Amino acid sequence: MWTLNWNRILTVDQLQRRGLVIPNRCCMCNSANETIDHLFLQCNFARFIWGELTTIHSGVRYDLQNWITLNDLLLNWPSFNSKDIAAEIWGRLPYAVIWCIWRSRNRVTTEKDKVLQAVKATSWAWLNMSKSAMEL
Ligand SMILES: [Zn+2]
Repeated sequence: MWTLNWNRILTVDQLQRRGLVIPNRCCMCNSANETIDHLFLQCNFARFIWGELTTIHSGVRYDLQNWITLNDLLLNWPSFNSKDIAAEIWGRLPYAVIWCIWRSRNRVTTEKDKVLQAVKATSWAWLNMSKSAMEL
């Protein structure tokens, strides 16, 4: 169901397709363009999250290299024919990972903007303080 709406997630590449002129860099690793597949699967940050969770919940480290796209992952996510709580959680895990990575990405983007604004404001404030001190 979710896979039908991937192009609605406004990663930088999607914003560019809609006409926004902005640089495209993944804010989590700053080493690749931000696409849906990169942000949620290929990014080192995402790989760390997937790797940790698949090991913890299954005891088996899945080879993430087998999943090139997020659709690959979702379509091939192993399922267990069981109604026990662990199987239910396992089935929801990919969606929880995607949701939490998206929220982290948005927090990082917002924080970076706040830090840049704070640095500019601090630089101006210090410049004004030093000019005031020289005028004394
Ligand atoms: Zn990245």
